[in-house]
Amino acid sequence: MPSTSTPSERTPEALAPLLKIENLSKTFGGLTALSHVDLDVFPGQIHGLLGENGSGKSTLIKILSGFYTSDAGARAWLRGTPITLPIAPGYFRQLGISFVHQDLGLVPELSVVENLRISTIVAGRGPLINWKKEQAIAAETFARFGLSIDPRETVDRLGDTDRALIAILRAVSELGDHRALLVLDEPTVFLPKEDTDLLFRVVKELVADGGMSALLVSHDMTEVLEHTDRVTVLRTGEVQAHLDTAGTTDEQLVQLIVGRSLRPAKQAAPTNTHHAGAVARVDDLVTGHVDGLSFDVAAGEIVGLTGLAGSGFEDALAGIYGATPATGQLTLVGTRTSLKDASPRDSLKTGIVYVPADRKTQGGVGELTVEQNVTLPVIGKFRSWFGLNAAGLSRRAEEIAESYDIRPRNPGALFSTLSGGNQQKAVLGKWLQDDPQLILLQEPTQGVDIGARSIIFELLRTTAAGGVPIICASSDYDQLAAVCDRVIVLAHGRPHAELTGADLTHEAIAASVITSLTETPALLKESVS
Ligand code: ADP
Ligand code: MG
Repeated sequence: MPSTSTPSERTPEALAPLLKIENLSKTFGGLTALSHVDLDVFPGQIHGLLGENGSGKSTLIKILSGFYTSDAGARAWLRGTPITLPIAPGYFRQLGISFVHQDLGLVPELSVVENLRISTIVAGRGPLINWKKEQAIAAETFARFGLSIDPRETVDRLGDTDRALIAILRAVSELGDHRALLVLDEPTVFLPKEDTDLLFRVVKELVADGGMSALLVSHDMTEVLEHTDRVTVLRTGEVQAHLDTAGTTDEQLVQLIVGRSLRPAKQAAPTNTHHAGAVARVDDLVTGHVDGLSFDVAAGEIVGLTGLAGSGFEDALAGIYGATPATGQLTLVGTRTSLKDASPRDSLKTGIVYVPADRKTQGGVGELTVEQNVTLPVIGKFRSWFGLNAAGLSRRAEEIAESYDIRPRNPGALFSTLSGGNQQKAVLGKWLQDDPQLILLQEPTQGVDIGARSIIFELLRTTAAGGVPIICASSDYDQLAAVCDRVIVLAHGRPHAELTGADLTHEAIAASVITSLTETPALLKESVS
């Protein structure tokens, strides 16, 4: 473990932390999300908070915002004054803390200046605002930071970068003169590199002349090394290290984040070659953040897609299914179709099954019973001149409940009353019963309890073993390692690495994902040309 130095060795004037946290723990039921975390954020610094998915970053931030209450035993100080814990909801404003979340919280239909004053509008005091004056103030602020944003423009006409900048400037201006800490939760995920630099220039100026600090959650090693003064690395809720950024390397950070010394697995040539036995093939997929993805899937193979948020792995399946606009081609058992013309209706007819992540609204109907849910796709087969074969449907529902171990074993129960894991088993049972040709799964075990998780893993393996190709988009590295034959890591909408065999471990996948923005995928260029 690298030595943990305090900035006092380097910058004596920064001795007293602006924010000091000691012994912060948080448990959710039996799960420890944060364990005895200490954190010092020094004045005028940008402090990076690093860790892979589930390491506790958001939990820490949500404790600061008062959304979660911390466990007993924690202590905290702001500029040397003790803070009462847990922090009451909304109290962060009095403390001088402001948050910019990934969704930015802007109202697209309103103008820039209205968004800047949204809290006043929401409080019903909008009519008291002198908009001419506000526009002038906003224009002056933008000019000071060298930004060319028109305060009267509506936000939906702005690009992602301007939106992020407005969210940041608003967060700081809402604090007035009472500024302490700006918390940024992955603000640059969707921004191009040049714009990231612009954003950090603004943050640095705010921090420098506002007497405040910033706490930055980021997955981008390059960005963290370039723009932060200090970093704290969390792993499974525990602090691995506090480090001065200067002198720290990305290898060191990856090792601390992932938990063991490991170079990212061999960055094998991203898939574009035709594999023997491939029955499904995607060519030149462009959709959402996906910007040119080609790969194939053999009969009985489970291929995983993963990456950082914004890498495109979340968008690919909806595009392949025709649920969102896409271009490219899908070849399934020899038939090639253009994804431009794909629609869920046609995909379903071709035998493509898509199970989205949001099971509650898209995978199942809460108001219907389990039986009604699981038999929906096959109802046509149980209908004849004599009406609906109700007994046959019930028998089918029972078979599914049995083979997918849906609990409680009560086909008349409302879908909405099942636990997350049992809902997911029901959704899989519903879709997998009818000999699918291709299965597309988005985060199939998200929000699913441990017991159901392993049953679902087994179900997927068995289904694949029957010869069906499966594509599984997921940010759950354990799940990818457990069920996939091959995992493609995306970066900037393109394949960055492909992991198979001994490289299919949680650590190797995590390491490859974490470094996916840092390393130039040299092999990529050849494969897409
Ligand atoms: P990160 O932001 O680093 O990805 P989180 O702070 O969101 O991680 O999560 C840390 C751990 O706490 C994870 O195991 C997550 O599943 C769990 N967790 C977070 N919020 C809740 C909650 N409301 N209920 C139960 N578990 C939670
Ligand atoms: Mg998080």
